[in-house]
Amino acid sequence: MQQGQPAFRAKQIFDWLYGKRVSSFDEMKNLPVPLRALLADHFVFHDLETLETSGSMGETRKFLFQLSDQELIETVIIPAPRRKKNTVCISGQVGCRFGCAFCASGQKGVVRNLTAGEIVGQVMEAAKELGGRPDNVVFMGIGEPFDNYDAVMKSVRILNHPDGLNIGARKITVSTCGVVPGIERFAEEGLQVELSVSLHAPNEQIRSSIMPVNETWPMAELMDACAAYTEKTNRIITFEYTLIKDLNDSVEQARELVQLLRRFPCRVNLIPLSPVEEFDGECPETETMQAFFQTLENAHINTTLRDSKGSKLKAACGQLRSRRID
Ligand code: SAH
Repeated sequence: MQQGQPAFRAKQIFDWLYGKRVSSFDEMKNLPVPLRALLADHFVFHDLETLETSGSMGETRKFLFQLSDQELIETVIIPAPRRKKNTVCISGQVGCRFGCAFCASGQKGVVRNLTAGEIVGQVMEAAKELGGRPDNVVFMGIGEPFDNYDAVMKSVRILNHPDGLNIGARKITVSTCGVVPGIERFAEEGLQVELSVSLHAPNEQIRSSIMPVNETWPMAELMDACAAYTEKTNRIITFEYTLIKDLNDSVEQARELVQLLRRFPCRVNLIPLSPVEEFDGECPETETMQAFFQTLENAHINTTLRDSKGSKLKAACGQLRSRRID
């Protein structure tokens, strides 16, 4: 909308929206009344409607939001009480087209992309709940961020903007199941945003058996794209690796992973499998996961073994889906 307004108006509107978090143009008191009316004629506030909240203050909390067309998404607040840091895990799509075998989000395919407003809206709702902006934002909720590239990048810029939520770029993580063209584009953005890549397997065969995306962009291509990204940006990728009993959790497979990741500096985040109805895999024993972890550590790969927060709530990795909480 071209209106020939002075540039400072944009700053004022940004501040009302993201700083003061108002939900109508009428509340934007330092804007002339005609401008408020003009804005109201052209734009709407797509507030997310909170249908359900589970979990209590200070613990992992999950929100079920209804969008203006009645579609549902989930958002999770993950507190780290000792470090006093809150992470908000947000969704980028309703559903997901990639259908990883172990993930609940993609069991029914993708319904639609979220708009940048709906993506930022999740963080705004979390900010209201927390009484301030969250410390970290991760695109690890429902959907594949690089399948909704433009809206995701627009939302990243708003979240990061000093007049927006002012969340540091390094505090924002985009996670992809391995959409190679997305990684290539992301490398050109010139942003300090973190990139996570969901790998989950040490070789093509295992990856293809649980992640259909591997048929489109095989691991060989994916690793080339990751190497090019690292080279171009000087940024370190975190590889997500969900440990699944007797499938990808042996010490031998850990060694195979070490060989695969030798090419460039990276981190590995090991995630114990969260139970999902549609997948009959199990989480490995603790000792097995420790041995896997130790093998990577011994090879000097910076590794974390994530505890599966929110499992009771069905708010853990891969348990988010577009439906009411049961
Ligand atoms: N589509 C993106 C982001 C969403 S998933 C991606 O694939 O990266 C966030 C992380 O949780 C991914 O690494 C995903 O593979 C993992 N995940 C999915 N289902 C899981 C499950 N049942 N248990 C543990 N991790 C899971």
